[in-house]
Amino acid sequence: MKRAEIEITGIVQGVGFRPFIFNLAKTHSVRGWVLNNEKGVLIDAESDDGNLDVFIHDIAGLAPPLSRIETLTVKHSNPLGYGTFQIRASQASEEKFALISPDVATCDQCLAELFSAENFRHRYPFINCTRCGPRFTIIKDVPYDRHKTTMAPFTMCAVCHAEYENPSDRRFHAQPNACASCGPSLRLVDRNGEGILGDPIDTALSLLREGQIVAVKGLGGFHLSCDAENDKAVSVLRSRKYREDKPFAVMCRDLEEVRRHCELDQAEQDLLLSNERPIVLLKRKKESTAASAVAPFQNNLGVMLPYSPLHHLLLDGPLKALVMTSGNKSDEPIAYKNGDALSRLSTIADCFLLHDREIHMRCDDSVARVYGGKPYMIRRSRGYVPFPIRLPFPVQDILACGGELKNTFCLTRDTYAFMSHHIGDLENLETLEAFGKGVEHFKNLFSIEPRLIAYDLHPEYLSTKYALSTPNIPKVGVQHHHAHIVSAMAENGVEEEVIGVAFDGTGFGPDGTIWGGEFLKADLRSFRRVAHMKEVSMPGSSRAIREPWRMAMVYLLEAFGDRAPALNIDFMKRVDLKKWGILRRMIERKVNSPLTSSMGRLFDAVASLCSIRDEVHYEGQAAIELEMIAVRDTEPSYPFLMDGTRDPLIIDPAPIIRGVVEDLANGIPAARISSRFHRTVADLVLKTCDRIRAHEKINRVVLSGGVFQNMFLLSLAFDGLSHSGFEVIVHHRVPANDGGISLGQAVIAHMGDDSCV
Ligand SMILES: [Zn+2]
Ligand SMILES: [Zn+2]
Repeated sequence: MKRAEIEITGIVQGVGFRPFIFNLAKTHSVRGWVLNNEKGVLIDAESDDGNLDVFIHDIAGLAPPLSRIETLTVKHSNPLGYGTFQIRASQASEEKFALISPDVATCDQCLAELFSAENFRHRYPFINCTRCGPRFTIIKDVPYDRHKTTMAPFTMCAVCHAEYENPSDRRFHAQPNACASCGPSLRLVDRNGEGILGDPIDTALSLLREGQIVAVKGLGGFHLSCDAENDKAVSVLRSRKYREDKPFAVMCRDLEEVRRHCELDQAEQDLLLSNERPIVLLKRKKESTAASAVAPFQNNLGVMLPYSPLHHLLLDGPLKALVMTSGNKSDEPIAYKNGDALSRLSTIADCFLLHDREIHMRCDDSVARVYGGKPYMIRRSRGYVPFPIRLPFPVQDILACGGELKNTFCLTRDTYAFMSHHIGDLENLETLEAFGKGVEHFKNLFSIEPRLIAYDLHPEYLSTKYALSTPNIPKVGVQHHHAHIVSAMAENGVEEEVIGVAFDGTGFGPDGTIWGGEFLKADLRSFRRVAHMKEVSMPGSSRAIREPWRMAMVYLLEAFGDRAPALNIDFMKRVDLKKWGILRRMIERKVNSPLTSSMGRLFDAVASLCSIRDEVHYEGQAAIELEMIAVRDTEPSYPFLMDGTRDPLIIDPAPIIRGVVEDLANGIPAARISSRFHRTVADLVLKTCDRIRAHEKINRVVLSGGVFQNMFLLSLAFDGLSHSGFEVIVHHRVPANDGGISLGQAVIAHMGDDSCV
């Protein structure tokens, strides 16, 4: 006879772990008990020697699909002579820490029940079990028990309760367990909140078919939904939402429907079908019948599959593809409460498909694409959060506040980095409030009391102001691009020095200029700027970001000086020479014209020169559209200048601009110019890294920053570097854009930031 006390940490709550243990114990004649505590699962087991060993061995080997065992410790002690095996009530222990499962897409078994006329949950829109359903978005506190979720107000009926109490049932301790007679229900209301008669789903569907816009309450917030093939409906949605060009996501009934609109390889298919169910950016087929207003000027389409029972029901009717875009007006946070949605979305939606299961934490859909056969995250949120990124070493309790655009924050303890859900662009009070609430929620869930706060050096970021106004905690300012590089290092477990190539739109440099075309010699603690793009003016500051033609003008002046206005290209025909004169004086007198080394601005300039876009409606639009049109055939690259006499080394793109202008004047199509430009930037990365390697003897290159969401550039740079013997590190699980920098900030703050310029 042997007895073992077994402690398991990881995602082991709310995923059917205790019934699994219960059944395993029965199989191996093990007696004792199992319970949830605030760290995970605790088991006291006794049996004869052989059985107990197999039992312990099988825990890791046969664990339920959604669980993730982080640690499993076994302590042997004297048998107590248990008679049975029991599941005991949860125990609150001193140390309060357990991992929490993200929300999980409806499992196959629940789906089969949903559509089975014999099942008593037939067409019940809130069906779930221990293998699927809402988690993170309904959890108010830990440990994960029903009374600490937004399911608390619903009392289970006898049938649901029997399942909940039956250890051999799939719904044993499924905290959101419910049915039509005891659980949450749907309601369809008009924009004044007045109920609409009829079956909510059937009526919503017929309204959608008529071209109306329906606000649908989902797992992490509201979607604005309409028929994806109805041009008029999609255009109306666009104008009411004040969203001019930014693409909408489409939810397709199944893979077959996805294939009707997009090309799909195996890795993309796996990502679409994964439990996380992100929006996946796919290459759109020419024959796709999705309305052109879904994703104007794009050859990609953001597609996802249904992930809640309600979605499955909505797509079970005549409509096979629905626009499902976040329920907000332009840049506000997504609405997630019924009342809030009714007041904020009533000018957009014609009606509201509501339910009474509250969402405790809003959580936007995640967005990803596939690069190199693996997911390449663009927005890491629903389905992934709050699962932590594991660090290669333990760190202190730190709060990293992230950046401004696409903000996430990060809280660390031990070897866990808990990156938050997508907070959004921290440009208004609502988003700042969501940020503050999110921080408090994560601190409570994971029992983290930060001893250090990390923030971006940009003094005007609201995240920076939040950090600096937090009393009594030491603070560490972290340079934006250093944070990008370290975030990629951290997710890849890299600790040694690297050449960090950080290309993005805007990041505050310690010298007061705006950085964004940077080559850093970096480790987890510090960095040195070893090379960068030549600085140019941004006349009008943020207006130069919204109006790429301003950057085109700046680069023309750099490349041609006074001869620029006489150039025989379409761009000059569009330019208002009066404005040109004003901007030129602003630059000369250094009025509201900060200096920048941003690679994003160079992309903007080339896009405008190629007559692709003179003004943008969302971040990165010009660069995205420049990438879209590039032909993939081999084209020669343009020349550029490297001034190696300077430290840091300066890369001057003036010859690139002269090459682009010459091609334009010769009538070369923009698609070829774009291709040549992309190849040039990849070339410039390779040649600069080569030089740095010769001096610094570093062979490892990290590619990060929002510009590396450009797949054409990423693969050209990756291939070029790999071919020259570099080891190349790229992002996969953490976004290359500013949504990823909170992770880097936290790690740098932990190491003790003594960075220099
Ligand atoms: Zn299920
Ligand atoms: Zn029930």
